[in-house]
Amino acid sequence: MKHFRKTTTLIIATAGGSKGGKGMQENSLKTNIIKLRFLRNSQPQGREYTYYTPVEVSEGDIVEMETRGGIAKGTVTQINVPEEEIEPFKDKIKSIIGKVKEETPEDEDKPRKEAELKIGDESIYTEEEAKTLVECLGILQNTRGVGSFPCPRCGYNRMKDLVAKNALSRRADVYICSECGQEEAILDAAGKDPLPLNRWDMVIALAKEMKGW
Ligand SMILES: [Zn+2]
Repeated sequence: MKHFRKTTTLIIATAGGSKGGKGMQENSLKTNIIKLRFLRNSQPQGREYTYYTPVEVSEGDIVEMETRGGIAKGTVTQINVPEEEIEPFKDKIKSIIGKVKEETPEDEDKPRKEAELKIGDESIYTEEEAKTLVECLGILQNTRGVGSFPCPRCGYNRMKDLVAKNALSRRADVYICSECGQEEAILDAAGKDPLPLNRWDMVIALAKEMKGW
């Protein structure tokens, strides 16, 4: 049990393909394979399913996993399932998302949770995807050279008509309004974190559109 974390890392490396680099493990103590039953109306239903888990869980824990119909909850029925048992179908096994947080009444980290929720709601893009998105606009700006687009960072319609007269962002190959350009410079100078690309107005707008808002 105390080697759990190490084993987990190894198995995730195995399950996730080449991502982990070294660590395709030889020894076979597997502890991050679990069985669970899906919950419907808080009651376990149907047969047991096998999953990998990225976090340590115990029997009886409520966990979340992605399914075709969205995120579902399940209750852990078995942990430390031996790898031999899943050998024939291990390529098909997915990983759960994680444990469902217990609702504690005196929830001191509630504001933080709400903040996380907000980010999750507003932007479904990763930083890398967001960069691709804004740089697509950058290509369009460069191709046209003229014509006003809203500023991709703040969303205001205050870009100069001649694209090259605007500020080139420090974060991605795209022009932004001078105000945003200044803000980026100030944040950098002050050693503060930049506005993440997936929080840019254009990216949030696209994310909302994708979610049908
Ligand atoms: Zn702007």
